[in-house]
Amino acid sequence: MHKLSDIVNNCGRVVVKVGSNLLASKSAGINLSRIDAIAKAISCLQDKGKSVVLVSSGAQAAGVAALRLKGKPKAMAEKQAVAAVGQPLLMEAYENAFRKQRKHIAQILLTNDDLSNKARFFNAKNTFNALLDKGIIPVVNENDTVAVEEIKVGDNDNLSAMVANLVEADLLVLLSDIDGLFTDDPSKNPEAKLVPIVEKIDAGIERSAKKAGSELSTGGMFTKIQAAKKCVSAGILMVICNGEEPGILKEIFEGTFKGTLFLPKKNAMTNKKRWMAFVANPKGFVVVDEGAKEALLNRAKSLLASGVIDAGGEFKAGETISVRDIGGSEIARGESACSREEMLLIKGCRTEELAKRLPSCKFKEVIHRDNLVILAGS
Ligand code: GLU
Repeated sequence: MHKLSDIVNNCGRVVVKVGSNLLASKSAGINLSRIDAIAKAISCLQDKGKSVVLVSSGAQAAGVAALRLKGKPKAMAEKQAVAAVGQPLLMEAYENAFRKQRKHIAQILLTNDDLSNKARFFNAKNTFNALLDKGIIPVVNENDTVAVEEIKVGDNDNLSAMVANLVEADLLVLLSDIDGLFTDDPSKNPEAKLVPIVEKIDAGIERSAKKAGSELSTGGMFTKIQAAKKCVSAGILMVICNGEEPGILKEIFEGTFKGTLFLPKKNAMTNKKRWMAFVANPKGFVVVDEGAKEALLNRAKSLLASGVIDAGGEFKAGETISVRDIGGSEIARGESACSREEMLLIKGCRTEELAKRLPSCKFKEVIHRDNLVILAGS
């Protein structure tokens, strides 16, 4: 238990994500009493003046139960078909539950593609804001029926972090069927301890989150830590806690809950940087030398043409590109001042020589520091 009411009381905009395991089982289908409890808890938060967005999994689990299948199908088209069956059943359950609380809900189905295109990202943001202004609770899921491998987020932990970023939430709550992050797998190691607060996601924390998901869920702790990384860099608090506990949402705001709280970084990014870091789909990349890498990571410098060794992909001036080191790891992202063709002309060139190689050149830095974001963990 930790006293954190001071921190969370100021959170006005909250995203609550509910995992499949809490909502549906193969044999019994959608757990209506759980959905009722969630609707009631979210309505209470709203009545206290919070804006709440719900991200709910469970479409595939509900579809599996409705069609009496043995488990989630493996083939993509089959999974999409099962989600198409389950999503309206899930929404029907939410609609009924929220109606009892006299609340309106709205369905929003997203893919990674929607979030990585700047225009669509801002369109979606406007829609969320319009709904929240009217006191309507958006219920979000991945658009599983159209989301093939290349365009999908893949799990709702990461999706909910992206949504929290999109709506500029103060807090993301991941309601799961476990109490939080443990030092080891609590089902195998009786000595495993709950970690109440994480101030920095280091290698030890990553090790604690073994890659695992259950039969009906997708993510497990691995994707929850990925979501936490997104949140802490964007200045958003994140909590993992057990959604089987009645009243857990209320307890979070009272500062008396059992679970894991991830504290955000102090120097959180601006909106534009958040967008670049977490949702932009880079159009191309540059490879930089060791000197440029050191200047970017340790000295908060802009990227100069002299540090660029190569460029790839298809990008124009103003588009988001990846910055890779010689080993191929993505160390940063940023808005390129020039196209790939221009980048190849000026790579390795000193700033004074830019105009000679590229007479139309109006910039000194190929990625200005203001348009550059260093990626968490690098
Ligand atoms: N979108 C999936 C579904 O509704 C869930 C993905 C997840 O649980 O992470 O079944």
